[in-house]
Amino acid sequence: MESSTFCCVQCRLLQPPTITCVECAAPMTAPVELVRELLYYRDMQIGNHRDWTMVTAFLAGSSLAMPVLAPLAVGGIIALAIHKIRTRQQRRGIVGIDMPAAVAAQGSTTIYGVARRFRSTVSSILDDAPVLVEHAVIKDRAGAVLLRRCEAAPFLLEVEGSGSVLIAGVARVTTTSSLAQRFAVKRGDPRLGRMGVPADLAVTGQLEVASVPIDRTDLAITGVIEEEAVAELAFHRDGGRIPVMRGRVGAPVLVADRRLIAAAL
Ligand SMILES: [Zn+2]
Repeated sequence: MESSTFCCVQCRLLQPPTITCVECAAPMTAPVELVRELLYYRDMQIGNHRDWTMVTAFLAGSSLAMPVLAPLAVGGIIALAIHKIRTRQQRRGIVGIDMPAAVAAQGSTTIYGVARRFRSTVSSILDDAPVLVEHAVIKDRAGAVLLRRCEAAPFLLEVEGSGSVLIAGVARVTTTSSLAQRFAVKRGDPRLGRMGVPADLAVTGQLEVASVPIDRTDLAITGVIEEEAVAELAFHRDGGRIPVMRGRVGAPVLVADRRLIAAAL
């Protein structure tokens, strides 16, 4: 079965097919069925893009790629295969990673306000409810991250004391404690299926889902604000040119709960 879900080996983000991870910009993304083997290794280290390409080719079992590999590369692949066979017995499940740090782009500002629906929503993996942003993380018992998924629809942030800013592009929810719900999950859970996790992947742990519903108040959103022309708003002043905070590859917009930020100051 062809999968349309890719996984970043570096930050464990499940995402639509891509060459570079939308959140961390690592070139280590491939179909989740292909990279699943790699997720079992604690000390997975792939130095560069070329190695990565060969490993994915190897895991795909593709005879297509083999003739073009240099003898040294083949040696490395055999070493990896032996290592794989040796460690297969001890496997219990995917090895978790620390939650990748969310870093704000250079020139970022933080704005505060209420999230308003723009033109679309995304469906929550929990109950199909329409939400604006949802970050789902599967963690193991030790709290390490196994897999993640983030979906976001463009939405308007009604900023206190000023106008609205369109929040678009790649987003990441950074404070989860007040936005998240937690559930124990194991292999075959339909919520994992909706995240894009293959049904036969050995995943057991806690599912942490942080959602931003429509009209959510007290949000703190960090990113770079630029003016963009937005067709839907062309009837507005300035021919639809409005401030837009757009999350880009390697520089997501950071979505947090304002009350937690205030408490930390
Ligand atoms: Zn990544």
